[in-house]
Amino acid sequence: MHCWVCGKHAEFGRLEVRDADRGVDKYCLTLCLACRSGGLVNPPPPEVLSQYYDALYYGGGDSKFAAPLQAIVNLSTRMRARSIRNSLHRTPAPLVLDVGCGRGSLLVELAGLGARGVGLERAAPASFRGRAGMELRVGELTEQRFRAESFDAVVLWHALEHLGNPQAVLAEIGRIMKPGGLLLIAVPNNASWQARFFGRCWFHLDVPRHLHFFGHAGLLRLLRQQGYEALASSTFDPVQNVFGFVQSCLNGLPGSAPNRLYQLMRSEQAPIRVLEMLLWMLPACLLLPFALVEAAGSAARGDGACSIVFACKK
Ligand SMILES: [Zn+2]
Repeated sequence: MHCWVCGKHAEFGRLEVRDADRGVDKYCLTLCLACRSGGLVNPPPPEVLSQYYDALYYGGGDSKFAAPLQAIVNLSTRMRARSIRNSLHRTPAPLVLDVGCGRGSLLVELAGLGARGVGLERAAPASFRGRAGMELRVGELTEQRFRAESFDAVVLWHALEHLGNPQAVLAEIGRIMKPGGLLLIAVPNNASWQARFFGRCWFHLDVPRHLHFFGHAGLLRLLRQQGYEALASSTFDPVQNVFGFVQSCLNGLPGSAPNRLYQLMRSEQAPIRVLEMLLWMLPACLLLPFALVEAAGSAARGDGACSIVFACKK
């Protein structure tokens, strides 16, 4: 079979994975054995899939997670916004499109740094935090009819794997981005040590929301094929890689409910759930040193749990 990500004629493997949110439905992935990219077999129809993007997914109120984790996530978002703004330092008031903007946190940070922002989501999250100079669009990117060459930068932060047709999305971004414009993209790295070691227990599989799976080298090749030039790339995201390791270990415990700590760390929890979260935090803290060593080691080898690429439109 031909792999649309790495372009090779390769063998494909199959992996059965449980839906970690509901714990009952099983899904099957096919993965290219050359680059470990692949896709979900028989994904749910859009009307079923939309139920997986509820208020709990986006987080209600002022925060998505319990305070300590939210503080780390906020810091990570602020650093990402600074990195984007620094890359566009020659452009006054750059226009940035955030595909899969969620609550709009990155756009808010960018607005504070003098950028204008457009967010795109599949449905308007009730917790979207609009600001002056920000716009929220709803629906598919290819339906938006943005003007050609209108954006200085486009962000796909853990979004491409959720979209039905990644090739069409990358082609459309190439059309609406200015020449030399910046694309920041991040996806879970399915060729990572974590993905290979944890298999079906890996936290970042997130089926059925994730419809596509990318290995780091496969993603770089796909971007080249779509007319982008990678300026910098990494497989290190301290938040995603470290939490992914801890939660994947916990998922592997006999009798453990999948992604339980992650679910409990969401902000809207009853007090009894807070007690359960603290109990899960005990093994999580014991695993933390191992997670830090794994995150540093795998990133140094280039097989960390996230694939992050800064690219420009040629
Ligand atoms: Zn492949």
